[in-house]
Amino acid sequence: MGFVKGLKCRECGEVYPKEPIHVCSFCFGPLEVEYDYEAIKKCLTKEVIASRPKNMWRYKELLPLDGEPTVGVQVGFTPLIKADNLARVLGVKELYIKNDSVNYPTWSFKDRVVSVALSKSKEFGFKTVACATTGNLGNSVAAQAAQAGLESYIFMPANIEQGKIIGTLIYGPNVIGINGNYDGVNRLCSEIAGKYGWAFANINIRPFYAEGSKTFGYEILEQLGWKVPKHIVAPMAGGSLVLKIIKAIKEFALLGFIKDSGTKIYGAQASGSSPISTAVKSGWDNIKPVKPNTIAQSIAIGNPADGYHAVKAIRDSGGWAEDVSDEELVVEGIKLLATTEGIFTETAGGVTVAVTKKLLEQERIPRDESIVISITGIGLKTQEAVIGRLVAPKMITAKLEDFDALMEREGKAVPAGAKRAQKRKDTVGTKS
Ligand SMILES: *Cc1c(COP(=O)(O)O)cnc(C)c1O
Ligand SMILES: [Zn+2]
Repeated sequence: MGFVKGLKCRECGEVYPKEPIHVCSFCFGPLEVEYDYEAIKKCLTKEVIASRPKNMWRYKELLPLDGEPTVGVQVGFTPLIKADNLARVLGVKELYIKNDSVNYPTWSFKDRVVSVALSKSKEFGFKTVACATTGNLGNSVAAQAAQAGLESYIFMPANIEQGKIIGTLIYGPNVIGINGNYDGVNRLCSEIAGKYGWAFANINIRPFYAEGSKTFGYEILEQLGWKVPKHIVAPMAGGSLVLKIIKAIKEFALLGFIKDSGTKIYGAQASGSSPISTAVKSGWDNIKPVKPNTIAQSIAIGNPADGYHAVKAIRDSGGWAEDVSDEELVVEGIKLLATTEGIFTETAGGVTVAVTKKLLEQERIPRDESIVISITGIGLKTQEAVIGRLVAPKMITAKLEDFDALMEREGKAVPAGAKRAQKRKDTVGTKS
């Protein structure tokens, strides 16, 4: 089984067999997985998909395995919620949140790409898997490798958030910290991948790995009742997710599952690491690499692998890109989402919400059309971003009088009879 025809260079069109390779040997362009859509059309229908278990493998014919998935079989099908409270605050008519902060098993959209990468690595016969990570990828490779019984090596900048370091170490992989930013880590890993012959999820396995992101898009379309939203906003690091959301829409249109009515894609970055959004806004075709400086570490990539193609695809879709400051991503992003929708997202999610707000204010996105905001990770991993920016607990002793006094100080009503309830509780006594 399997519907992959092979790999094809995105630049020059040269074709390659299904192998653990990621660049064209003629032009150094990135390789893309090619499918036999005619064959897929014959066996995959909306009804078949809808009848399957609620995980990302319900779209398995459109994923690059030859056999059944063996790693991460429960990943995906996270909630798409109608965000009416946030919609009211932003003054928009129809707003949804695709919430991968509750993805399984490591609370980010990276679980999708890793389940494909590790399942494919096992098909290729690798025993050791590895990755260069800004945090979430390492969490997911370490967790899923542990479950799959694979040896793993995680390479990361040494200064990323505690929650992401602990969230990798706990699974017992080999963790290598490197002083400096992600771009240096990535360069080193390219050399190690060639020399040691391991399966690097986002290097030599990248064409297969990146296909996992399409399921984020498929799910949005299915959960909207096989309809397309007018606008989708998504965060960008290497620029792969935005490309794969666009590919997902094109494939569902090709298979006749939806009418492609021209969804516009908007990319979101932090101003301290915005090579892709800067290129879109400046009208450049090429990316000028930058040195990242932002608290949004999961998307702090200064030299994005898919940057060039992301710029082009965003433009072709009729969308745009923006970036926000660290202050904006916390206040207009993380806090705004938490206080309106009860969702605690990480810095990348804060960037995406704050960029959506900015694009609405700029009238780049109209307020009367359907919008989906992509939330890709959980806030408990990036607590550093909000510590010291929240209202601290109000400290009292464990006495009812003390609480009554606090309520009085705050100008809140103190119910009569509260005193008697306290007495009764004292005489009865409570042990539990
Ligand atoms: C990796 C990551 C992204 C961006 O992914 P790319 O496909 O590299 O652009 C977005 N959000 C979070 C939380 C991530 O970890
Ligand atoms: Zn090529």
